[in-house]
Amino acid sequence: MTTTTTPDKGQLLIGGAFTDARSGRTFPTVNPADESVLTTVAEAGAEDVDAAVAAARAALTSGPWSRMTGAERGRILWKMGELMIERLPALSLLETLDTGKTLFDSGKIEIPMAAQILQYYAGAASKIDGRTLGGRPDAFTFTLKEPVGVVAAIVPWNFPLLLATWKVAPALAAGCVVLLKPASQTPLTAIELGRIGLDAGLPPGVLQVLPGSGGNAGMALVRHPGVDKVAFTGSTEVGRTVLREAAGTMKRVTLELGGKSPNIVFADADMDATVQGVANAIFQNAGQTCSAGSRLLVERRAKDGLVERLAKRATTMRVGPGVSDPDMGPIISKRQLETIEQYVDVGRKEGARVAAGGARPKDASLGGGFYFQPTLLDHVTPDMRVAQEEIFGPVLAIIDFDDVEEAVALANRSDYGLVAGVWTRDINKAMALATRIKAGQVYVNTYGAGGGVELPFGGYKKSGYGREKGLESLASYTQVKNVCIKFL
Ligand code: NAP
Repeated sequence: MTTTTTPDKGQLLIGGAFTDARSGRTFPTVNPADESVLTTVAEAGAEDVDAAVAAARAALTSGPWSRMTGAERGRILWKMGELMIERLPALSLLETLDTGKTLFDSGKIEIPMAAQILQYYAGAASKIDGRTLGGRPDAFTFTLKEPVGVVAAIVPWNFPLLLATWKVAPALAAGCVVLLKPASQTPLTAIELGRIGLDAGLPPGVLQVLPGSGGNAGMALVRHPGVDKVAFTGSTEVGRTVLREAAGTMKRVTLELGGKSPNIVFADADMDATVQGVANAIFQNAGQTCSAGSRLLVERRAKDGLVERLAKRATTMRVGPGVSDPDMGPIISKRQLETIEQYVDVGRKEGARVAAGGARPKDASLGGGFYFQPTLLDHVTPDMRVAQEEIFGPVLAIIDFDDVEEAVALANRSDYGLVAGVWTRDINKAMALATRIKAGQVYVNTYGAGGGVELPFGGYKKSGYGREKGLESLASYTQVKNVCIKFL
């Protein structure tokens, strides 16, 4: 793999071999820091998906994978984690070039966590047990947990390698085989994950990688009768399409979708920790995080002081190319940058006031890339579009409240329900919020994009369903079979 800033040409991984697309088609992948083409990548089409599904089904039913014990699968997953750490410098550079994210984020947080994910599920692979059931004195009854089969893992561009491992690791631990489709903007580290799998000893066909467009390769996977489950992470809009199209073949679907997560700050909070937590929650990865804390709900009497401190932080953040390790890198694409600009304009027209940022940076040296300033929108009201819609950029919408009841109502006044943060020294307020907020994950006096590998992560409402990470995710790649043996 590459250790330079010129990545190798990307290929599909089908069976156990890297290959060009059957059509010969390729697509470019672009560095968002300067709009240069990093390399070209083979573009999978429906015929490549057919070939990969055939190889996957063979690996699932008749290959060495189907005969391995959980412990043996676990050893390969553990080795994958080791190889990922060995290749960390090259992998993190590749991820930063392809996504724009800072080297700190790719090299110190995401790829080490991806390796931890592989090794967490390495340990779990040998602990997939059924139950012995009572209730039938005339019979012995028990459950088995079997792999659901061929899994299509479709992932977005914001945390390409990390989110791929969130699906690949539990699926392989459970004995499934995986077809991984990365986002078109960020295919490079998914290809390297395929290489790591082969180098760690995965048999051919167990993990295959199919870069290509969502409408073509993605849709072919979703509709394919040989795929048993789609594990999808992406936008709510595409998630809805995936769910509809998967219905034709009755396959399982898990959906990790968008968010508009609130950080709820009471006046009694530790404000140093709060400023840091709230700023990280929206500006980390330039706000391109499903679980970004993109709504700040703040108790009215604490608002002005908090906004002032956040504005100071936002305006002193260094924005620049991910490889120079600034505080915030570029936006993924020109289109996404324009979307963010439009939302800030919409906010202004709706009556919000820009308290920091609000535009592209003035630094001429950043002119070639897709940069946007860390932005605070104050005086936002709950029905404004900037309070309701996922912007997916470094833009924080600020709304005030008077008491716990209003905070709960505002937090839940969203179509989404992914994560919430509560900042208070009062355990009663913390518990009231934690139990009444409709979200899959609630943090108190801390906030994380998903948190540690053991913490189940996923949505309520239009943020989707199913859980990533933890033992909950492992369970979603197994199906329960009940066996009942009557005594003669
Ligand atoms: P997206 O447009 O929905 O794309 C996600 C993935 O789906 C990509 O691989 C995409 O391929 C593919 N895809 C697109 N259309 C498809 C179709 N018709 N059939 C099958 N696959 C299709 O999302 P995105 O813009 O990449 O990512 C941002 C979104 O992801 C945000 O809404 C964010 O909140 C969400 N997200 C959620 C989580 C979570 O865990 N809840 C985590 C991260 C991101 P192409 O790249 O070729 O279009």
